[in-house]
Amino acid sequence: MNRRDFLQRGGALALGATVGLSAASGQAVPPTGSRRVLRVAHLTDVHVGPANDAPGGMAAALRHAQAQEDRPELFLFGGDCIGDALGTPKAHVLEQWDIWNRVLADELKTPARMCLGNHDILGWNRRDDAELRADPHYGKALALERLGMPARYYSFDQAGWHFVVLDSMEFWHGNNQGYLARLDDEQFAWLDADLAGAAGRPVCVLSHIPILSVAAFLDGDLAGTGTWVVPGAWMHIDARRIKDRFAKHGNVKVCLSGHLHMVDDVTYLGVRYLCNGAVCGGWWKGKWQDFGPTYALLDFYADGTVGRTMVDYRGE
Ligand SMILES: [Zn+2]
Repeated sequence: MNRRDFLQRGGALALGATVGLSAASGQAVPPTGSRRVLRVAHLTDVHVGPANDAPGGMAAALRHAQAQEDRPELFLFGGDCIGDALGTPKAHVLEQWDIWNRVLADELKTPARMCLGNHDILGWNRRDDAELRADPHYGKALALERLGMPARYYSFDQAGWHFVVLDSMEFWHGNNQGYLARLDDEQFAWLDADLAGAAGRPVCVLSHIPILSVAAFLDGDLAGTGTWVVPGAWMHIDARRIKDRFAKHGNVKVCLSGHLHMVDDVTYLGVRYLCNGAVCGGWWKGKWQDFGPTYALLDFYADGTVGRTMVDYRGE
């Protein structure tokens, strides 16, 4: 396999095939001969709550990632941290956040950054609940507080890379879900300026909902009408203007997401879009379609490439 084939096939799978690395070992070898500058664990869609031993599963994932011989230096939590807040009474939402905060306090020993998920948003799918709409925690406020986030979208620099964390969810009732996967105009303008400010550095974008995904076509049965129609709650409805803005700046190398509980790897116009499964798999009831509970180990290289290893942390 030559280098070009390798890059086309993409990081971890080809790497494992050529040098015999297992997903569990997670040993990092540069895919391109470049210097590795950062190792990250991306844990998304934990969906913790009191049922199905989700707290134990969340703790197991954190322990597994932190027991890696080649230990990640940063955790990125990709959103949908709790089971659901969109359509759930507040008392039960608070119970879920208490579990999240307790497991993190007990287990997390690695610097971490957080991203909002749709299920972290309080009450957007409880339109008739006037009391909840008047609550200061309504919407994204409670999640921002519990996750200790500086803002619903933000950026930071680490190891020569620039990281952008987006808020995928725009309030919308055109469907029955309460949100649309779209960057509001204020955030889009911020993203444009932020990418301009990161000129010359490789950029990693973290969003909860995929900007581009092939798994989105298979998440549900979309083929019945004879037309592929991917709902705007599954994949960013504004993917076109986002990819155009990425092309204008030319520094975005990789985009990480979750939401679908499925794993894919799409390269489009020089940007690699990685959907990295779910820590909870099928909501703590085994697999979702072909994908069991998992997290991703990501190796960031100085030349702007990334290697990915999906980890079966339960050994199932
Ligand atoms: Zn989600």
